[in-house]
Amino acid sequence: MALIKCTECGQEISDMATACPKCGRPTGVVVKTKSPSVTAILNFFFWFLGYFYLGEYSLGIIFLLIFISGVIDMFNPPSNINILILGYIIGLFLSLLLANDGYKRTKRYNEAQFKK
Ligand SMILES: [Zn+2]
Repeated sequence: MALIKCTECGQEISDMATACPKCGRPTGVVVKTKSPSVTAILNFFFWFLGYFYLGEYSLGIIFLLIFISGVIDMFNPPSNINILILGYIIGLFLSLLLANDGYKRTKRYNEAQFKK
């Protein structure tokens, strides 16, 4: 973190500030954050989509493949009802797990944006 001079009033301000605290002139620093809730919701319904939203493409591709295989299984359900129920339970569990993971990763992502 360094101090820069405001181009408007000369006040010394942080180079991470989005605007001068004295005169309010925007510094041009734009902190891009992403919504943890959006990642969580996307990951809950589509296990890979939240990771793509977050820019975690390798994780996104892995869960895209798992998601596709899950969808294929849904259209070709096993005849054994217990295996089918187990599949739904695992699917729901994975949805919750990935929603939670996506939420936490987005928070870390946002914190990292401010530390840049
Ligand atoms: Zn200023």
